[in-house]
Amino acid sequence: MTTTLDFEAEQLAEQLAEKCTKYAEYEKLVERERFLLPPAASKATPVAGKKTTVAVRLRPRLGEEVNGEPQAVFVRGDAVDTHTLRYEVRSKQPKLDMHTFSPDHAYDTDTTTERIFGDIVEPLITEVCDGGVATFLAYGQTGSGKTHTVSQLQKLASKAIFEDKDEVGRHVKLWIIELAGNSAHDLINDCKDVKIREDMFHNTHIRGVLEVEIEDSETMLEYIEKASALRRTSATDKNSASSRSHAICHIQISRKGQEKVGELYLVDLAGSEAARDTIEHGNQRLKETREINGSLTTLNDCIKSKAKADAGSKKSARVPFRGSALTRVLKPIFDPSSNRGCKLAVLACVAPCLEDLSSSTNTLRYAEQCRGMVARNKPVAYDCNVPTTWSNTELKSWIRENSGTPPINGDLLAPFESGALIIRLEAHEFVERCLKTDGVSSRQASTFQSKLWLLHTDSKEPRSEKQASGTGTTSEEPNPMTRLQDWQERIRPGMVIEWIRPGSDSGQSDANLAIVLSDVTAVSPTTLDYSGQQIDTVDINKKGIRFLCASLAPCGTMGNSGFDLQMWKQFTVDVNEMTSEVILIYDKQARLYFIEI
Ligand code: ADP
Ligand code: MG
Repeated sequence: MTTTLDFEAEQLAEQLAEKCTKYAEYEKLVERERFLLPPAASKATPVAGKKTTVAVRLRPRLGEEVNGEPQAVFVRGDAVDTHTLRYEVRSKQPKLDMHTFSPDHAYDTDTTTERIFGDIVEPLITEVCDGGVATFLAYGQTGSGKTHTVSQLQKLASKAIFEDKDEVGRHVKLWIIELAGNSAHDLINDCKDVKIREDMFHNTHIRGVLEVEIEDSETMLEYIEKASALRRTSATDKNSASSRSHAICHIQISRKGQEKVGELYLVDLAGSEAARDTIEHGNQRLKETREINGSLTTLNDCIKSKAKADAGSKKSARVPFRGSALTRVLKPIFDPSSNRGCKLAVLACVAPCLEDLSSSTNTLRYAEQCRGMVARNKPVAYDCNVPTTWSNTELKSWIRENSGTPPINGDLLAPFESGALIIRLEAHEFVERCLKTDGVSSRQASTFQSKLWLLHTDSKEPRSEKQASGTGTTSEEPNPMTRLQDWQERIRPGMVIEWIRPGSDSGQSDANLAIVLSDVTAVSPTTLDYSGQQIDTVDINKKGIRFLCASLAPCGTMGNSGFDLQMWKQFTVDVNEMTSEVILIYDKQARLYFIEI
């Protein structure tokens, strides 16, 4: 009697035999076809000067693959061939389809990572040491060797960066994060959550990331090891956490006497397999896979749009980098307005076996689409009104002449930064650096920061447009004659004042700003203020003169020290608590108020 089990075992054996026959047929056909192929010569064009390099690395067959599945992807010189078996309806004989891809470099299974490093990562490091932005992306399906390659390349990079031990005045900083869906974690700082935020000029900031200063390659290796240990999961598990996340290692290199700061991104992308290929088809897993594929598509779109923008096509100048967290983090490489050198290397990692062929073909197509990105490296002429065009020397002289008394020391505020870089500095760090100069108060520092910021925002929106938006954009007394009077004698609705709450430390540095709304006598005696207290409209003579005011709160967003008007936060301030008049300017673009100097 045959049991169900026997029947299933028989079926399995049949399927296996069928598969083996199919594999044997396939291998024979492939062997015959490859025998007839001409050897492809390696490309003569040197890749060192190119802006974009696309390479393919074929992983060796591992474990069971060695005696199991046939090889379907082959490297021939710098070409990659794939062979697909096709059965035609009318014919019993299967046919073989071959497709050849031509990347800049193709690395066979026996190529060492050192060779790949020398060919494509070393030129990136040279670019970064010259103040450019360079990116290495490892793309491919899960199990194709991305992490294997990137982790070795990171180690080789840390050695190469510190090779010249005698170089002085070089600063190296490192952060490593992991992006998984909508969340991001710091791989150096115990997987702590970090936030990807954009400022009003769409510069990306990674909030909360630990950026470590690195003195030598040993320390760098330790951090890299720590980060990969945090990310490492069983490599054979196709659904491991690492296959569903992108890992971004960012190395910043600055050198004394060099205006620009170099940035190197080494990116181990999430597995590129199609949603249908994920082993577990849970809703969550499918959603994640779709998100990953969405981010990889956006990445590809960004690379293509950037290539078009660089080629001078105005039509496609918009680079859709805001479409995913990944491309937002990688924004510096896509920024069409950047005047820094920019290099990109994409390494398509490919598994060799027939079972993985459809994923491998997709990977090779993706890599092919990435070719042709040409970065613009146009020098931008100096303009005294456009901070982003200033070199470090020009920035320092502007600081000396515009920072008030005592003048802020440019060497302490911007030791090497250019105008473009100082704009990207977070407001609190700018202020902290200003305070290093003896005698500078935080008020002077934040006011100076506003001044630079306003100049920058003005340079983004032409003056003529600003003026066209009309007068009345500052809180200054409109009548020049009235302006000559002592400010306490001309307090009026709309005036902005600095004030100190009674009993608080009068030496406190932060400006407590408020806008005057009216004299308290104009308010009904039953009115309550923001704290729920009845507004004191009767007892004015004892205390001086009180005014109903609304709060102007410092706006703690990145990159600026503006104020936001909070009309609902109303309270009264006695004239004796007011310390000075402050002129605020409304910045249309930032939608904030800034202190005028
Ligand atoms: P991915 O990051 O693309 O999912 P991994 O880098 O984890 O893939 O590689 C999967 C497995 O293949 C690992 O066990 C890795 O050690 C091995 N592997 C990948 N590339 C190579 C290679 N070039 N030589 C030897 N083993 C490799
Ligand atoms: Mg991996």
